[in-house]
Amino acid sequence: MSLDLLARLGLASQNPGVWLGDRATGSGPALLSFNPATGEPIAEVQTGTADELAHLLGEAAAAAAAWQAVPAPRRGEAVRLIGEALRRHRDDLGSLVSLEMGKIRAEGIGEVQEMIDIADYAVGLSRMIGGRTLPSERPDHRMFEQWHPLGVVAVITAFNFPVAVWAWNACLAAICGDVTVWRPSPHAPLCAIAVQRLVNAALAGGGFPPAFYLFCEAGTEHVGRLLDDRRVPLVSFTGSTPVGRQVAARVAGRLGRTLLELGGNNAVVVDATADLDLVERAVLFGAVGTAGQRCTSTRRLLVERSVADALVERLAAAYAQVPIGDPLAPGTLLGPLIDAAAVARFEAAVSAARAQGGLLVCGGGGLPRAGHFVRPAILRMPAQTPVVREETFGPILYVIPWDTLDEAITLQNEVAHGLSSAIFTRDLEAAERFLAATGSDCGIANVNLGTSGAEIGGAFGGEKDTGGGREAGSDSWKAYMRRQTCTINHGRTLPLAQGITFGAGPA
Ligand code: NAD
Repeated sequence: MSLDLLARLGLASQNPGVWLGDRATGSGPALLSFNPATGEPIAEVQTGTADELAHLLGEAAAAAAAWQAVPAPRRGEAVRLIGEALRRHRDDLGSLVSLEMGKIRAEGIGEVQEMIDIADYAVGLSRMIGGRTLPSERPDHRMFEQWHPLGVVAVITAFNFPVAVWAWNACLAAICGDVTVWRPSPHAPLCAIAVQRLVNAALAGGGFPPAFYLFCEAGTEHVGRLLDDRRVPLVSFTGSTPVGRQVAARVAGRLGRTLLELGGNNAVVVDATADLDLVERAVLFGAVGTAGQRCTSTRRLLVERSVADALVERLAAAYAQVPIGDPLAPGTLLGPLIDAAAVARFEAAVSAARAQGGLLVCGGGGLPRAGHFVRPAILRMPAQTPVVREETFGPILYVIPWDTLDEAITLQNEVAHGLSSAIFTRDLEAAERFLAATGSDCGIANVNLGTSGAEIGGAFGGEKDTGGGREAGSDSWKAYMRRQTCTINHGRTLPLAQGITFGAGPA
C-alpha cells in the first residue's frame, strides 16, 4: 500500500529534499522518515547543505521580484491551479499525512481539504486585497493606503499539521505577491516534498514563474539562516512556545517580522444547563482526535460541580469505546503519537498529575505493541496544578470542577497560553459573559462547539504564549504585505499638516 501511495505522489525510496521551484536537489545527510504507527522507516530524504540554502535564498529573492510583477488576479489563477491539483490528489495526500504523521485518514484528508479551502479563499482574495482612501485634512490632497508584497516569506512548520499550515501561509503569501521558503518539520518531510511537487508542477503547467521553495534538514543546523537573513522580511513560525520565543527574539534582533502560531492549553467550560450529548461529542473529538496533538486540542474540562460526575461517567464510557490502531484502517479513531519521546512526555505528565492530587479515571499508559500508541487519559484534578498549566502534546484531559461562572472564567484564563476556548451552555447570559471582554482571553472563543476544528474563513491564532499571530481568513492577508500610506497634492499650494506655517510662503 505505502509503496503504491508514494509512487502516485511522485515519491521514491530516496527523495531530494531541496526544491527551487520545480528543480530538486539535496546533497546533505540523509533523513529517514518513520511511520509512527509501526516505528518503521517509510523513505529517505536527501537534506540540504548550508551552500544549498544560501543558493536557494538567492534564487528565492530573485524569484520574488518576478512574482510580484505578476498581477494579483493572475497570481490568484496560479493558486486556483494549485487548488485543482490538490483536489485531484486529495485522498492520496491525506493518506500520506496519515502514514507519516499518524493522524487518522479522515483527518488526513480533512487536512488536505483545508488546503483546498484556503486555496479557494485566496483565489477570491486575489481580486479583493486593497487599501482604504482616507480623508485628508489638507485641501486638494488625497490620502490613501496601498499594500505591496513583502518579498520572501520563510514558513517553518510543526509536525502535527504537516501540509495545511504551509497552505494557510503559502496560498495567501502567493496572492499577496510573496515567494515562500518552506522549512518543514523533520518528522514530516515526505508530506512537504509531495506538496512541493504538486504545486510546482501546477505552476509550471500554467506557465507561471516559481513561487515555492523547500528546504529539508534533519535537525536545526540550518534553520537559523532563515531567521537571520535580511532578505526574509517575515518568518512565519508554527511550533511550541519555547522554540517560538527563541525564534521571535532572534528575528526581532534584526527588526524582522514574525508571525507566531504557538502552543495552546485549551479549555471547554460546561455549565449545568449544557446539553451533555453535545459536550460528550465535542470533548471526545477535541481531546482524543489527532491523539491530542492539535494546537487546539481540548486539554482542560472546566465543569460545574453539579454535573461533573455525570459528565465524567459519560466520557469514560465513550473513551472505552475508542478504537485505537492503524490510522489508515477504517474505523480507527485514535492513532499513534509522533515518536517515543512524545509517549514518554505523555506518561510523565500523567504521573505528575497523579502526584499533584489527580485521580486517574481511565487510560494513561503506553500500549504494548509496535508504534507509539497510548491509552487516552482522563484525570480528575482538585485544582489547576502546575502540570495542568503546561501543554502536553497528547490525549490527556484534566477535569476541574467549579461553583460560579466567574471562577470558571478565571480558571480558563489563568494559564499562559491563549489559543482556543469554548463554553457549553443554554444560558444566554453565561454565553455572553464568556464572549465579553472580561470573558475568555483567547484568540478563539466558541459557544456550544468544541475548541478544535476551525474554519479557514476566520482569522486563526491566539494571544499570550500562543504568540499573537493570525493566519487564514478575515484580514490575515495583511501580515504578508507591507502597508504604504500615500498622499497626493493636486493643488497649487503646499499646506502643511497640523496647520503649521514654516517660513514666508502662503499656507
Ligand atoms: P517544535 O517547536 O518542536 O518544532 C516546530 C518547528 O520548529 C519544527 O520544524 C522544528 O524543526 C523547528 N525548530 C526547532 N528548533 C528550532 C529553532 N531553534 N529555530 C527555528 N526552528 C526550530 O514543535 P512541534 O513538536 O513540531 O509541534 C508541536 C507544537 O506546535 C505544539 O506546541 C503545538 O501547539 C504547536 N502548534 C501550534 C499551531 C498553531 O497554529 N498555534 C499549529 C500547530 C502546532
